[in-house]
Amino acid sequence: MNSDIKEILVTKDQLHLRIKELAQKISADYRDKDCVMISVLKGSFIFYADLVREIDFHTTINFIRVSSYGSGSKSSANVSFKYPLDIDVAGKDVLIIEDIIDSGNTYVFLKEYFKNQGATSVSMCALFDKPSRREVDITAEYVGFEIPNEFIVGFGLDYNEKYRNLPYVGILKPEIYDN
Ligand code: IMP
Ligand code: MG
Repeated sequence: MNSDIKEILVTKDQLHLRIKELAQKISADYRDKDCVMISVLKGSFIFYADLVREIDFHTTINFIRVSSYGSGSKSSANVSFKYPLDIDVAGKDVLIIEDIIDSGNTYVFLKEYFKNQGATSVSMCALFDKPSRREVDITAEYVGFEIPNEFIVGFGLDYNEKYRNLPYVGILKPEIYDN
């Protein structure tokens, strides 16, 4: 598995340090709000687990699953629910936890959805951001690391459902997805 990685982009230690910083900022910003943190499966499961353990307010644990990607390494504007939300977000401040914001299509879809469900506010915390790939004018309010236009895997992020269990984040060798 490790031999499929061209370069380690973010180490385990860097990830943990940055997640702690994000959690401190979120804890301060949402101190007086009614925050619901929602993990977008599957990519954010490790990030979410680390983040919520550093959060200093009461939060329930919530998951949704959306699909925008098919099985390849190219995004698509067609977003749909594969595992819908099972809680009421009316009157709540929703914080979506994502692995990465890429085209931005998933965020646009979810923002609209939660607003329609009556959420007071909808924000996103993404561990990674690839701003050069944006197709819509939207930015995540909290970003762990801004990265160049490379396909990354590990720490929850996959290529064809693989590499999610790598403890670091690396750039996949292009020959893995080119053939
Ligand atoms: P968006 O709707 O294009 O912003 O898509 C975000 C989703 O695309 C993420 O939640 C990931 O599942 C997937 N994605 C985008 N870039 C990468 C990448 O470099 N590696 C793995 N998954 C990615
Ligand atoms: Mg994915």
